[in-house]
Amino acid sequence: MAKQNSVIAFYDERMLAHEPDIEVPFLPGRMDQRVRSLLSGLGVPWKYPEHPARLTAIRHLLEIEPVPGVIFEAGAPATREQLGRVHTSSYLDSIYQLRGKSAWLDVDTTAVSPGSVDAAEVAAGTAIAAVEAVVEGRSESSFALVRPPGHHAEPVRASGFCLFNNVAVAAAHARTALGCERVLIVDWDAHHGNGTQDIFWANPDVLFFDLHRGAPFYPGTGKIEEVGVGLGDGTTVNVPLPGDVGDAVYLKAFREILVPAAEWFRPDLILVSAGFDPHCHDLAMNVSYDGFSAMTGILQSLARQQCQGRLVFVLEGGYNLISLSRGVRSVLQVLAGDQPLEPGLRGLAELEAAAAFHRNAFRSEPDASAAAPDANQDGT
Ligand SMILES: [Zn+2]
Repeated sequence: MAKQNSVIAFYDERMLAHEPDIEVPFLPGRMDQRVRSLLSGLGVPWKYPEHPARLTAIRHLLEIEPVPGVIFEAGAPATREQLGRVHTSSYLDSIYQLRGKSAWLDVDTTAVSPGSVDAAEVAAGTAIAAVEAVVEGRSESSFALVRPPGHHAEPVRASGFCLFNNVAVAAAHARTALGCERVLIVDWDAHHGNGTQDIFWANPDVLFFDLHRGAPFYPGTGKIEEVGVGLGDGTTVNVPLPGDVGDAVYLKAFREILVPAAEWFRPDLILVSAGFDPHCHDLAMNVSYDGFSAMTGILQSLARQQCQGRLVFVLEGGYNLISLSRGVRSVLQVLAGDQPLEPGLRGLAELEAAAAFHRNAFRSEPDASAAAPDANQDGT
C-alpha cells in the first residue's frame, strides 16, 4: 500500500553521456553541411543548449534544498520492443547505428554524441520506470528527470533535441503492459509536442492536451483545428497561445478546457510532458513558479478524482538552469503534499503589513477612526 503523497524522483547518471559538442568532427554528409551553414549564418557562437547540466542542476538543487517525502531511484534502459511501440523498426535501426558516433540528425539542431543513444534509451526507460512505480502502487506520483527530451520525436524522425518520444513510450507501455486503458497526456512545455500528437493522432485511448506558444514559434504545429482523425477524432486538444502569456491564462485553460476534457475521458493514468521553458526566464512565456505549483495542484486533484492519484511527470524542455531546477522543485513540493500556491498572492501579507504601518503617515489630520472604539468589540 502506497503512503499518501509518497513521491519517487527518477534520476540516472547514464543520461549525462548525451553531450553533443559542435566543435568535434561529426559524420560527414549533407546534414553536416546544412547545419554548419545554418550555424555559421547566426553570426554568434552557438553551443548545444540541451546539455547535461540541465539534469545536474536539478539534482544539485534537490540535494541542497531537499523536498521531504521525495526519494530518488535510478532508471533503466528501454528495450527495442518498448521503443518499437511508438517508433518504426527502420527508425530504431538508424538510431542504433549511431551508437558511439557524433552526428547531426536534423536541421532542427538535433545531434548525437558517442554516448547519446545509450542515454536516450535510459531516458525512455526511466519514463517507463516512473509509470511502473505509480501503477504498481509504490508511490502516488513520480517524476522522471530525463534527457534528451522526447515530445518532438516522431515515429520516424528525431527533431528539436529529441531522439525517442519518452512520454509516448511510457504511455504505450502503460496501455500495453500495465493494463491501463485510457491515458491522458498533458503537455505544458512552451513548444508544441508535435511528436506525441503524431504518434497518438488516430488513437482514441490517449487524450493529448497541449498548451503551447503557437505558430510561427517552433515547431509551428498545434493549431486549434488539429483535433485528431478517424477513431482519434476529438482526443487531441490544442490550445495555442500568444507569446509571453502567464499564469492566469494557463490556469484558465486548465480549469475551463482540460478539466472538463479529462472528466469526459476518464483516464486510468495522467502523464505530464513537463517543460519548464514557459517560465519567464526562458523568454517564450511568462509562467511563474507559483503557476507551475497551481497547475500541479489541478492535475493532482484530477488524478485523485479520476485514477487513484496516478500522476507521472516526464521532463521535457527548460534551458535556464535556475528556472528549470526551481520549477521542478515547485512541482515536487505539491506532489509531496504542500498546498499548491495561487499565483499573484505572493508578498500580499507583507504588503498589507506595510500598508497598515504607513496608513497614517500621509494624512494631515489624525485618523479619528483609529482611536474610536470598534463597534463590533462587544463580542459578536
Ligand atoms: Zn520546449
